[in-house]
Amino acid sequence: VVPAGVVAGIALALAILLLARRQMSLASAIRHALRKNEFFLVYQPIVELATGKWVGAEALLRWRRATGELIGPDLFIPVAERTGAITKLTERVLRLVQEDTGRFLADHPTFHVALNLSAADLLTTTIVDLLDQLLHRTGARPSNVLVELTERALLDIGPARKVICDLRARGIEVAIDDFGTGYSSLSYLESLELDYLKIDRSFIEAIGTRAPTSQVVSHIIPMARAMGLRMIAEGVETREQADFLIENGVQYAQGWLFAKPMAFAELCLALERMNGV
Ligand code: C2E
Ligand code: CA
Ligand code: CA
Ligand code: CA
Repeated sequence: VVPAGVVAGIALALAILLLARRQMSLASAIRHALRKNEFFLVYQPIVELATGKWVGAEALLRWRRATGELIGPDLFIPVAERTGAITKLTERVLRLVQEDTGRFLADHPTFHVALNLSAADLLTTTIVDLLDQLLHRTGARPSNVLVELTERALLDIGPARKVICDLRARGIEVAIDDFGTGYSSLSYLESLELDYLKIDRSFIEAIGTRAPTSQVVSHIIPMARAMGLRMIAEGVETREQADFLIENGVQYAQGWLFAKPMAFAELCLALERMNGV
């Protein structure tokens, strides 16, 4: 008779092996997808709450497989981050932004595109050169680009600090993303020079509910203000949430209440309609 502990041990080892194999195959599928140009971007408008004006858009990555299946970034970004493929993906994102936006940013000085970067992107200053290239090739100004960094990406503070300084010295603004979901201490945050704080969707969702986290926004907002950071609320789905944010002095928001992510061409058409061009 084999002891139950041994059986459980073998089962666990098998599970880990299977998981590792799945990640490996997903990692090679990502490399393949890069070669086959299966990645594309959608853009979600960022709205100035006081006026309803679209002041920018966040670029969000999508993967359309040859089978037609659409895969969201929550599935493949974590794998890409663990397997080192993320820097290649980020390079692709910058190229896609260049192709999608063309001369648009050059012609729209006050509009910005927000890009998501991962921890690995901040380990070297290559990313700064890539962003310089993007500006050069599109004629965009540094203020046309906003970089979003998660608390997790900022954990390795040494290299991140250098990249943030380089970006801000150029006039590229930096946001801390998914704020409140990580572990960064206040003093740590204060030691970084940032421009925006993005309030995570989970806290917006909780506004006006009985959820234990419903009060979190009320703590984040004065803190961000004290630190001189402008705020962007993400995942705003209801008028009540938007009104609460306006009353509490949050300047910007994105969410389905305003617009879902869309192709860049669609965003341009919507902007033209709104501006009555
Ligand atoms: P994120 O940066 O927090 O992006 C916001 C997510 O919330 C997006 O999901 C967006 O589609 C979704 N969202 C926006 N408004 C609403 C709303 O009103 N309701 C609901 N339910 N959802 C809303 P998405 O596009 O699936 O992206 C998931 C995450 O994947 C992003 O979270 C970001 O962390 C990551 N990601 C996306 N694109 C990139 C990329 O190019 N590079 C990197 N490193 N990460 C990316
Ligand atoms: Ca983001
Ligand atoms: Ca976010
Ligand atoms: Ca989020």
